[in-house]
Amino acid sequence: MLKICVDIGGTKTIVGLISQDLEVVAYQKFTTYSDNPEKEFAEIVRVAQEYVQQYDDVATTTLNIAMPGPCDYSKGIFINLPNLQQYNGFHAGDYITEHSGFQPYFVNDTNAAILAEYRHLQTPVEDLIYLTISTGVGMAYVRNGKLVAGSEGNFGEIGHTILKSDSAYQCPVCKQYGCVENEISGVAISRKASEILQKPVSTQEAIAMYNNDSNATITEMIEEVLLLTQQLCTNLFSIFNCHNIVLGGGVIQSTLPYKARIEGYAATHQLIQTQPFKVKISELESNVLTGLYDIDTQ
Ligand SMILES: [Zn+2]
Repeated sequence: MLKICVDIGGTKTIVGLISQDLEVVAYQKFTTYSDNPEKEFAEIVRVAQEYVQQYDDVATTTLNIAMPGPCDYSKGIFINLPNLQQYNGFHAGDYITEHSGFQPYFVNDTNAAILAEYRHLQTPVEDLIYLTISTGVGMAYVRNGKLVAGSEGNFGEIGHTILKSDSAYQCPVCKQYGCVENEISGVAISRKASEILQKPVSTQEAIAMYNNDSNATITEMIEEVLLLTQQLCTNLFSIFNCHNIVLGGGVIQSTLPYKARIEGYAATHQLIQTQPFKVKISELESNVLTGLYDIDTQ
């Protein structure tokens, strides 16, 4: 059975057809209509209807959708999206049922990703944490194969929790100092490197300088980012009493030594050493899209 799955991002939207083996059978990509949610969902419905006509064995009424947060995922209402402000208050669930025969299911993009990662594990585990570090930072948690999503589906919004208590940088979003997103994300690495060098520096350029050890202050800054990430993961291991974490997102796919550092730190500082803490770097490129396959049955 093929299912129609949609990944709405701040810049692009992908409408895909996913198989039971989590293969992307077909997909269409378009630029997200960032100032017009009606147009956005009209286009999603149009592509979905095209798939229903073109392919046999499609679940003809299922439409599984990942949206960036925060949203009310139980109903499909956008709450307050930093990059899609025009969507605030838009009721995507109502729009879809009024304009098509589809039954939509909504989920946070990080929650979709963990379902694909969980299915992809070589050795089954009881519970799993997923942490994504890219432009922003998100996390998700699966317990006994089931997603733990929270009452409105916003479980794991750790981006604006405090990680560095003596930070001098005030977050423009939550107005706190030292929140996760402003200390360890790709944007944070670029911001800190640009401050040090007094010119615009991309995340990749900063990481390349760390690898070559070409600037002592940059090396020191990235060492701190790694340490904070190690501490964050050890916090998560303790809070969830979980020994397995998958790391995803663009910054994780860089050459920074996340796996070795996080495992080493947890082995030294975590109190419960009954089994090793295992860090896996994601191998799934389209984990959000493929992870949507199961959300209508979760
Ligand atoms: Zn913040």
